[in-house]
Amino acid sequence: MSKPSFVLCLFLIYCSTFFGQQYSDFFINKSCRIDFHFCGNARQTSVFLDKVKQEPFWGGRQGHLSTDLNLGDFRFRVLDSLSNKQIYIDGFSALFHEWQSTPEAQITSKSFEQTLLFPFPKKTVTLIIEKRLDLDQWNELFRYSLSPTDKLIQKSAPKAVPVKIITQTASPEKAIDIAVIAEGYSANEQEKFYKDAQKLSENLLTHEPFTKYKSRINIYAIAAPSEQSGISLSKDSGWKNTAVNSHFYTFYSARYLTTTNTFAVRDLAALVPYDAIYVLANTSTYGGGGIFNFYALTAADNKLATQVTVHEFGHSFAGLADEYAYDTDVLDQTYDIKKEPWEPNITSLVQFDRKWKNQLTAGTAIPTIVKDSTKLGVYEGAGYLVKKMYRPMLDCRMRTNKAPEFCPICKQAVEKMILFLTEEK
Ligand SMILES: [Zn+2]
Repeated sequence: MSKPSFVLCLFLIYCSTFFGQQYSDFFINKSCRIDFHFCGNARQTSVFLDKVKQEPFWGGRQGHLSTDLNLGDFRFRVLDSLSNKQIYIDGFSALFHEWQSTPEAQITSKSFEQTLLFPFPKKTVTLIIEKRLDLDQWNELFRYSLSPTDKLIQKSAPKAVPVKIITQTASPEKAIDIAVIAEGYSANEQEKFYKDAQKLSENLLTHEPFTKYKSRINIYAIAAPSEQSGISLSKDSGWKNTAVNSHFYTFYSARYLTTTNTFAVRDLAALVPYDAIYVLANTSTYGGGGIFNFYALTAADNKLATQVTVHEFGHSFAGLADEYAYDTDVLDQTYDIKKEPWEPNITSLVQFDRKWKNQLTAGTAIPTIVKDSTKLGVYEGAGYLVKKMYRPMLDCRMRTNKAPEFCPICKQAVEKMILFLTEEK
């Protein structure tokens, strides 16, 4: 080997070690969808596989494949079976996990649909699903060997539903692709849905840091028709037959609007390449919900829709926690104050050095007293708890509808996620 080619060879070895794997080494440009059921109660969590599907697009990241941002109550890892090397990882949260902290979970067992999505592998892989125990500790729940040539991987085409591009600024691998799904719009309300999706897009894109990165955001409107107009258990209705069967009164909380029909939501999202799902509900009743790395759901016609739209996307897109506290809340057992929560915008002070401690100005009191209202600090009352859980600022989009914007720590978390999903290295 001549000297220049030897040097080139060394350089290529260095590059492949330094930059890690390429997307095309292990994956094709389609999605692998794992449908499973989370089953259990307040004390038990089990995973049961439902089916594996190949879907026509991959809208997720093509860089940073073997690392993640350490967010979510659960994570899954994909290993190349031959080398045992980790080739994909992602964190996620689940409605099931929230339900586990309700009184009902103390006395009954239930199952919830859940789905994972990763790029479709070229070779046999091992899928591992894990539950978070602490900031860096995980418990394995499920392990599965997946061969990409398995005949029973379902490859049926997604349902034919009209799709309209609301905004498209970059190719899917360089953009945050948001699939907006119509819920509670009858077939003759398609134009209203497109207008509402346009409004949702404007609400999001006028909020920082989405404004700063709007040239990296694509939004698609998926006009799934519902048999009936409106949403189940809204203030003026009973149960309705709608595209993804969402409803208010999730866990008996009037304003909590969610759907447990996860597989139906994913079937509709599969029509476009996507990183994030937004279910847009045709109702004026106040409410919404957002689950990290799964979906956000909001009421299209409420007068606070602008604020709620962005708040719920903060949950689902960046894993932000609620910064509000109530004396009594259905989810008041969600956080264990003896542990540091994984969400970037709240702290129990157990491992505050892993949060925004190094951004505080010298002399900031921990906890911070309320009169320092314009300063980054450590304010008590967050994550549904009045005591012993803390937030970065007095107010934030994740705390009240009066707040004009996200606090600086929430903005940073959203920006970090945008960069993680859209930059190659
Ligand atoms: Zn915040």
